Amino acid sequence: MLLGLSAALAATPLLAVPPQVREARLAEARLDNGLRVVVGSIPGSQEVALAVAYGAGSAFEEDGRGGLAHLVEHLSFHGTGELGSRDWSREAPLLAEIEELAEASVGEARKGEEADFAALAADRRRLAELVARQRALAIPQGLRLALTECGASRHTASTARDFVVYQTLLAPGALECALAVEARRMEGRSLRGFFDEQGEVLAELAEHARDPAVALVEAAARETWPGHPYGRGNWGEARQIRLLTPGDAEAFYRRLYDPANAVVAVVGDVGAEEALRAVGAAFAAIAAAAPPPRIAAVPPAAGNPTAAPTDRLVSLAGPGDGAWIGVGWRWPPRRSPDLPALRVLSAVLEARLRGALADGPSPLAAELDVQEWAAGGAAGGLTLIRARVRRAADLAAALSVVDRQLADLRRGPVAGAELEAARRRTVGGVQRVLGQPALLARELAVFALQTGRGESLTDLPGLLSSVDAGDVERAARLYLDPAQLIRIQLLPGG
Ligand SMILES: [Zn+2]
Repeated sequence: MLLGLSAALAATPLLAVPPQVREARLAEARLDNGLRVVVGSIPGSQEVALAVAYGAGSAFEEDGRGGLAHLVEHLSFHGTGELGSRDWSREAPLLAEIEELAEASVGEARKGEEADFAALAADRRRLAELVARQRALAIPQGLRLALTECGASRHTASTARDFVVYQTLLAPGALECALAVEARRMEGRSLRGFFDEQGEVLAELAEHARDPAVALVEAAARETWPGHPYGRGNWGEARQIRLLTPGDAEAFYRRLYDPANAVVAVVGDVGAEEALRAVGAAFAAIAAAAPPPRIAAVPPAAGNPTAAPTDRLVSLAGPGDGAWIGVGWRWPPRRSPDLPALRVLSAVLEARLRGALADGPSPLAAELDVQEWAAGGAAGGLTLIRARVRRAADLAAALSVVDRQLADLRRGPVAGAELEAARRRTVGGVQRVLGQPALLARELAVFALQTGRGESLTDLPGLLSSVDAGDVERAARLYLDPAQLIRIQLLPGG
């Protein structure tokens, strides 16, 4: 009997996957509280991977509260409520007092020059004292520790624009214990560690700010989705992060860490019924608080093959001392039938650009990649070509090489052997994910969150294999429209 499972199981064989997962079966179900569950059973697999994804990325932050999604990701590892506490009855009132004082203090600080600085200094001393007492009652990284004690290892998390995903690898027999801990992450109603982690996310933000490759992606996102939540920085802004409060974190957490806004994926040598029963036992009692929020969709860019090349070029100064170019275009949401052709198109383009920019006797670019970013949610994604140009003086030449390659692709055609190589590379990329339980669990959780079904991932190799030259040419005409392209140059010395 499957406790609380309302949906029938859909068992599907995985197609075109490496030998070690050839026998895998995918089962999907939904609990009465809305939690989606995906199980990939791989008999004989050495590892069991667990991933939990929430629709709680940076796109769900309110205006002025940038950085909250990443901060809550960090906070959740300290445990919620009793999990992570040495003495919850004494710690709970301290956390409440800290929250209240921090709220009042940040309210004062938001007045800027008008703020009462003496009162702020007194608040800071009082907060430090309360936090020291509360910290003594908490188990540092309590939830992480609880997972380790279950026999879980390599706990990681990442925050993207429309989701946050937690993943871990499990020793044999650890599944029920780890699920119970993850259920606490979902149902807990109190976070701790705010001030330590606020410092941590500020440090990570500073690190990203020094990385030109990140600067290009963030600039491309701003250009792609102006005025839309996807266009905001994924990690927030320092001045906003400094003004966040424990109350902001609690509100974000309560609103979004909800069973109806989450997916649990289990992959490895586990039976579907056994895993589904275990997930049901851990999570079925958690009540859904609210219907999952939605990110506004962005209508697809209207293809206009005759548009003149645009002058639009965004110039950035630094960071770093290298010169970079970035050229990007929008992707449709993951449900779109154009997606397989777009992936193959990216592979064709990457190979051509390598030949034209990065290889050869006097290459212009020292590094080159073509990647998907913020891909898959309601507002679609972004493909971005990034190239580090060897000499700043060659920036314009490198951009025109890219422009020429894009124009060639719009005119078609793609030769048979070239298409075959690109298809092989894209299918290989998906198969690498399908062949590793940890990657597969993560991707299944994210795909199921974004599309409603994990199967849409395992369908991909078949779909990619059947992309033909006509599909690629059509995608190039529609999506590489010069009027829609985002072009960025990053000059040294920011
Ligand atoms: Zn982080």
